[in-house]
Amino acid sequence: MNLSHSDLWDLLPPSCHNTFEDAFFRSKTEMIPIHLEISKPLLSFKWVEVGIFPFGEGFSMFFKDLTRHKQVDQLITQNEKKLALLAEASSDLIFQEDPKELLDNLFNSLSHYLDLDVYFNYIFDERANKLRLMNYYGIPKEIADGMCCLDFGQAVCGTAALNQHKIIAEDISSSIDPKVNLIKSLGIQAYVCHPLISYGKLVGTLSFGSKTRTHFIKEELELIERICTQVSITLDRLSLIAKLQQTNIELEQANTSLVYAQAQAEKAHKAKSDFLAMMSHELRTPLNSILGFSQLLHQDAVTPLSAQQLAKVDKILKSGRHLLAMINDILKLVKLENGKPFIEFQEVDLDAIVQAALSEITPYAQLKKLKMNCEDLKLKSDQIIYSDPVRLQQVLLNLLSNSVKYNREHGNISISYQVSEHTVTVNVEDTGVGISSVEQSKIFDPFYRTEEFSMEAEGTGIGLSLVKQIVTEMQGKIGVESQLGEGSTFWIELPIVKK
Ligand code: ADP
Repeated sequence: MNLSHSDLWDLLPPSCHNTFEDAFFRSKTEMIPIHLEISKPLLSFKWVEVGIFPFGEGFSMFFKDLTRHKQVDQLITQNEKKLALLAEASSDLIFQEDPKELLDNLFNSLSHYLDLDVYFNYIFDERANKLRLMNYYGIPKEIADGMCCLDFGQAVCGTAALNQHKIIAEDISSSIDPKVNLIKSLGIQAYVCHPLISYGKLVGTLSFGSKTRTHFIKEELELIERICTQVSITLDRLSLIAKLQQTNIELEQANTSLVYAQAQAEKAHKAKSDFLAMMSHELRTPLNSILGFSQLLHQDAVTPLSAQQLAKVDKILKSGRHLLAMINDILKLVKLENGKPFIEFQEVDLDAIVQAALSEITPYAQLKKLKMNCEDLKLKSDQIIYSDPVRLQQVLLNLLSNSVKYNREHGNISISYQVSEHTVTVNVEDTGVGISSVEQSKIFDPFYRTEEFSMEAEGTGIGLSLVKQIVTEMQGKIGVESQLGEGSTFWIELPIVKK
């Protein structure tokens, strides 16, 4: 279009007249094209690029609409700011350990960008089923104290928590909704409250308010929403960590009490052992003289006893020996429990030890007309057992004497071995009275005797507990398999060492 001088100046925005005058002047005097960018409405465009070309007496000009282009630019800058803010928030969320510090820092960055004046963070108190104001900024403490606890459905935050949905309140000064009365009284104009939900569970609420703005734009609300999602997870994580720390403290306290209780128990145990040891010693001396004098009476050739008297002295002797055996067992047990060195390891000939135990027990087995079966031990020459031969024989003797004691007349006793690469198991099997499954776990306890048969056979209930301690000290294992009324197999497993 052809424009006259006055038309041109009417067309150009008055605030840009000076800029254009300078541009026309330079273009004319230097005979060069000039380009300008105008951000004032011109020819119904918001942003315009103007090209000025000197042409004859006048100028040739072109106008290009830059509005769309500039809007995209603005959006990019806004997004960059948003991303920077989110990045800042995320790193804060990862590294912060104190919720108050975290929210204060977050609010600090957000308030610059969004013109915010207050934030409130309520935390859901599961036990009381209420919301408690944990962190806040922008209101005096007295006011915060007055709004420290909210019921579900009360005010904006209580409603957001109840419905688990965000609430946006805008242009609050002209709102008649009673729910916004509280924030209206604080002079807040625009307000957004988010429920904080982590893994489907309500953690609390987080809300932001501005006293100077009446509305938030869509992008700002989106930014707040994204930040609240991250805050939910972080606060949940922090509360979990706090709970874990609390549990840890409680565990440590429980542990201290346990250590104390254990020390007390050990003290009591030692007192018991000392008492038993002392008592056993004190009993042994008078008992030995009872046995000695009974023996003398029994063998007195000068004034021999009548048959009736001899029978009575026999009973004294039998009971006395039983008592002495019991006292000796108690002493052995106490010695073991007190951890005195007891096992002397050396290379042992298992077969020879078994044979020795068998020959010691055979006379008693014969009295009951028991049949004894024994296999040869088949250990390879490079497989060695390190043990204590005396203690090992004591163990086998104990198991064998039980297999005689709790057997029936004409029953069987078998000793067999199972050899694996690292262990040898010695089985002592009998066809005796057997042990119920309930009692199998108890017979290794000191002084425990099975109810049914303990009255019939003599015993103290100490033998198996001693055997178990010895086998354990030998780095072995012991166990029993039994059927009540059919018989039992006691086994000991010992480690094999390769040459
Ligand atoms: P004691 O034989 O002196 O009672 P032990 O400690 O050797 O003590 O055994 C504990 C209990 O285990 C015995 O009283 C008995 O009831 C049971 N018991 C042990 N060996 C056998 C066995 N071979 N058969 C059946 N019961 C047994």
